[in-house]
Amino acid sequence: MSASQSYSVTIVGGGLGGLTAALALRQRGLRVTVLEQAAELGEVGAGIQTAPNASRVLMGLGLRAALEAIRTEPLDQVRRRWQDGSVIGLTPLGEFCKREYNAPYWHYHRADLHKVLLDACLDPEGAGPAVDVRTGSKVVEIDQGDPARPTAVTARGERHAADVLVGADGIRSAVRDALGMPDSLLFSGEMAYRALIPGDKIAADPATRWLVDRYQSTIWYGPDRHLVHYMIRGGEYLNVVAIVPSTPEVERDWTAPATVDELAEAFPGWDDRVPAMLAKAEGEISAWAMYHRRRDPVWVDGHVALLGDACHAMLPYQAQGASQAMEDAAVLAEELGSVPVGNVQDALARYVARRAKHAGMVQDAAWNNMTFYHLPDGPEQRERDRKLTRFGGESDVSYEWLWRGTPLNDPDEETFSYQFHG
Ligand SMILES: Cc1cc2nc3c(=O)[nH]c(=O)nc-3n(C[C@H](O)[C@H](O)[C@H](O)COP(=O)(O)OP(=O)(O)OC[C@H]3O[C@@H](n4cnc5c(N)ncnc54)[C@H](O)[C@@H]3O)c2cc1C
Repeated sequence: MSASQSYSVTIVGGGLGGLTAALALRQRGLRVTVLEQAAELGEVGAGIQTAPNASRVLMGLGLRAALEAIRTEPLDQVRRRWQDGSVIGLTPLGEFCKREYNAPYWHYHRADLHKVLLDACLDPEGAGPAVDVRTGSKVVEIDQGDPARPTAVTARGERHAADVLVGADGIRSAVRDALGMPDSLLFSGEMAYRALIPGDKIAADPATRWLVDRYQSTIWYGPDRHLVHYMIRGGEYLNVVAIVPSTPEVERDWTAPATVDELAEAFPGWDDRVPAMLAKAEGEISAWAMYHRRRDPVWVDGHVALLGDACHAMLPYQAQGASQAMEDAAVLAEELGSVPVGNVQDALARYVARRAKHAGMVQDAAWNNMTFYHLPDGPEQRERDRKLTRFGGESDVSYEWLWRGTPLNDPDEETFSYQFHG
């Protein structure tokens, strides 16, 4: 886009979705301001996985070298049974993903991934105008008095007008509320414990040593609960997400601190290796209420659009919430970056048409996994395990579909392709 065509975009929310969008829009020549409510930018102390669909977007933004410095690569995804840890299914990751999907499956500490995105947004040498990131800017109102110049109003009374406003402000989006969009959140009845376990403690115990011998992305299936874990920062931590029925307190407060004992005792009767692993957790342990947003085809109002959890919050049972937000960002930038400011509404309509159904299918698949993962032992569970032995995916969504992602109209092959660089 030429300088004369360039126009301005305000993004509300500097999470993984908002920053990916800011970087992608900047690279298309747009002038981007990010308004973040927190006093300091950052992410929760936990891990995150990017499957090939999201890794491809990040590499398309030229981040491959920066990601290679912070990523940990699992060699396979393994599914285990709760009682004895027997393997239900094994999906190759590692080299297989790069070869088959032309993009890697990687694990990170969230703070590291967030910092890579932030540094790229701020980099004065990067393509396009550097992003203006403003912290301590909680948006409380959207003024659409001039529909072509939506204005974000902060709690301190500052007004930020732009040609386009993007609400990337998460599951409890203020932008969404300000637009009067329906309250489509459903509580799942479940919560997730999140914890980091020091890798050296894992390596020192013969009962857990196997976790460092081969890096894997592991899911344990049991009646009414499941457990996910993987190594991050090259083995510095084992990241754990433990899904169990929610307590009334967590349902009420959305998130609450938890203890090592609570975590270790949350899987009674499970394979001995599970409590041996969980009892080693250190530092901050927390429990998070699990919410799902009903599929919602309306993501846009005039020059205002939603992105990420604000429009398609999903249960993390496909590990795809942020990844889908990254796909949103790539498509949004492609659409906005190819039009003059007079055609913004059409571009936003195309953005929703390309993304809402796709993200909706992932929302539904993650929701279906709640029942599918947590079946009591019996004929349905045995049928599920048989399916998982052969099926390349979960629920009804195949990895073949999910990991290829939303196709871009005009991908930059040089940055977009893993194979290109050999
Ligand atoms: C246990 C768990 C595990 C997960 N694992 C994965 C995984 O492996 N892979 C994956 O892809 N996804 C995963 N997810 C999902 C992922 O974390 C979310 O989908 C993703 O973080 C959403 O990004 P976002 O940018 O849309 O919103 P958020 O990350 O919530 O960011 C929103 C930002 O907006 C700011 N904000 C909010 N309100 C305002 C306001 N009024 N004004 C200004 N700023 C505001 C917030 O402070 C925040 O910085 C997981 C989720 C959970 C709970």
